Amino acid sequence: MIELKSQREINIIRQNGSIVASTLSYLKEKIKPGIKTIELDCWAEELIRSKNAIPAFKGYRGFPGNICVSVNEEVVHGIPGKRVLREGDIVSVDVGVLKDGFYADGARTFPVGEVSPEAKKLMEVTRNSLEAGIAQARSGNRIGDISFAVQSLVESNGYSVVRELTGHGIGRRMHEDELNVPNFGVPGTGMLLKNGMTMAIEPMVNAGTYMIKTLKDNWTVVTGDGMLSAHFEHTIAITSNGGDILTLEG
Ligand code: MG
Repeated sequence: MIELKSQREINIIRQNGSIVASTLSYLKEKIKPGIKTIELDCWAEELIRSKNAIPAFKGYRGFPGNICVSVNEEVVHGIPGKRVLREGDIVSVDVGVLKDGFYADGARTFPVGEVSPEAKKLMEVTRNSLEAGIAQARSGNRIGDISFAVQSLVESNGYSVVRELTGHGIGRRMHEDELNVPNFGVPGTGMLLKNGMTMAIEPMVNAGTYMIKTLKDNWTVVTGDGMLSAHFEHTIAITSNGGDILTLEG
């Protein structure tokens, strides 16, 4: 059963989502050539805890970081560490927080210094595909309408969507497994969307093949062909007018 959230509960998620958003904005200002990915993790933890929230990924199924930091061909779930960011890299940062019993989850891909036109376009298309999915996240539609909107925007630009990983319901648990939000699908199919549903929509877009693999650290997901990948994610609530984005700065 999908738990429908009350407006009060949605506003708690929104409060937590604003912590996610301000963490991502804070890190955006810090990202430049020469910094290590572990530094982003430390800055994120400091900021999240200063808001009396908990970094939700730390210890999740044993994940060692406070946030996920995935560089270039890394798709998601990169472990922050000694890797140094270099001019021209793109870096995907995924942040989850828990406070007052509810989770919020969001991600963005940032350029490191000047990046190639190809990398810029990949990030822009991924961000646009998230917006397209959110526009379909309205009551009366079905999950497949969101999925199809993401997929068609991505594929019309010559890129591919990762298929093995999906968005998810979110609320009192970070992943409400009753609800999956694939980034590919058929309009008019899948679960009916209702006001009060909350979910994370998160296109993972690859420049080349949609195939992925997991590194020996058992976490880092990389593209099958070593080409670039980008990731944008918002936590949203279903409304009659489309997704109400909960991971925005307050
Ligand atoms: Mg997520």
